[in-house]
Amino acid sequence: GHPVYRDMPTTIFEHMSARARETGAINLGQGFPEGPGPQDVLQAAADALLTRSSQYPPMPGLIELRTALADHYARRQGLDLSPQEIIVTSGATEAIAASLLALVRPGDEVLMLAPLYDAYLPLVERVGGVARVVKLTPPDWRVTRDALEAAITPKTRILLMNNPVNPTGIVLREAELALLADLCVGHDLIALCDEVWEETVYDGLPHRPLIGFPGMRERTVKIGSAGKIFSVTGWKVGWMCAAPPIATLLARAHQFLTFTTPPNLQWAVAQGLGWPDQWLNDQRAAYQASRDRLAAGLIKAGYVVQPSGATWFLSIDLPASGIAMDDVTFCNRIIDEAGVAAIPISAFYPDDPVTHLVRLCFSKSDATLDQAIERLATFR
Ligand code: GLN
Repeated sequence: GHPVYRDMPTTIFEHMSARARETGAINLGQGFPEGPGPQDVLQAAADALLTRSSQYPPMPGLIELRTALADHYARRQGLDLSPQEIIVTSGATEAIAASLLALVRPGDEVLMLAPLYDAYLPLVERVGGVARVVKLTPPDWRVTRDALEAAITPKTRILLMNNPVNPTGIVLREAELALLADLCVGHDLIALCDEVWEETVYDGLPHRPLIGFPGMRERTVKIGSAGKIFSVTGWKVGWMCAAPPIATLLARAHQFLTFTTPPNLQWAVAQGLGWPDQWLNDQRAAYQASRDRLAAGLIKAGYVVQPSGATWFLSIDLPASGIAMDDVTFCNRIIDEAGVAAIPISAFYPDDPVTHLVRLCFSKSDATLDQAIERLATFR
């Protein structure tokens, strides 16, 4: 039967962060940057709080933010979105919830790729959707036509996907995205594309939005997050972009979920998006350096690290590192015995999980990363 929230545990992210707070462990579990966020964006939020309205902004979002987002996506990703096709939400999770509420009818099948972000399945099931999960296989996690075709039925209506992928740090290849687009067009699916990690793609690679693929402009909801772009995860400012017929439905769901999002935060994000792109590139370079620092330190300490091309996460491979424990056991042991919190990859599966990988967050200061590496080195 369908799980109900009563039977569900607290999310792994809150669980691990709460344990890190209790034990004083270094928290490389839940994904958030250690720094305060860009000073100019924080200042803009503070100024707007004191000088601009604190009453309800327009339901679809401040026009300044919607315009700034349209410009940002034109510049960064070559997209032709109009402000009217962008709806501001209280974080990307609300955008996912609103999209599912708006577009899934009871009994509709929703295609997803595992590992999958932990909010997806409970939301899909609570709107009456039927999850069809295609498991990707480590270490490459490649998307193949046969596996997807086998999971699609006449009832499949939605593809809910994440690119780049949390927790693996995988960036889908052009050919994989073309395949997904082709399947969406061929089977008349709407793609909900969670692209919150779009500004954290490393090694000089571009982010390729699914909405830019042939046939996808009219059937994609592109979801993004200011928390990720500006390293301010607590702000919960997100958005969803879609062609007008879909955007109209999304707005109907959003109006009864949160209705609006704090106007000063929307204003500050709009200002930040208007600044020259150089700082975004610098931020990305800094995260890439942090990824490389954590990976190198862990490798030196005897861990085998899975390459990560994006996000704030990399994974260690336990058996390859000579550790005979499953991911949950390892995470429970290191939080108590080494003082480091991490996330077991099995938390990203509804069933039959991969259990040999552990996710670590690298969006931290050098000092924090070095200390975590030292602690993990002595645990071995
Ligand atoms: N996206 C964050 C992560 O993957 C968690 C966000 C949350 O805890 N809701 O760590």
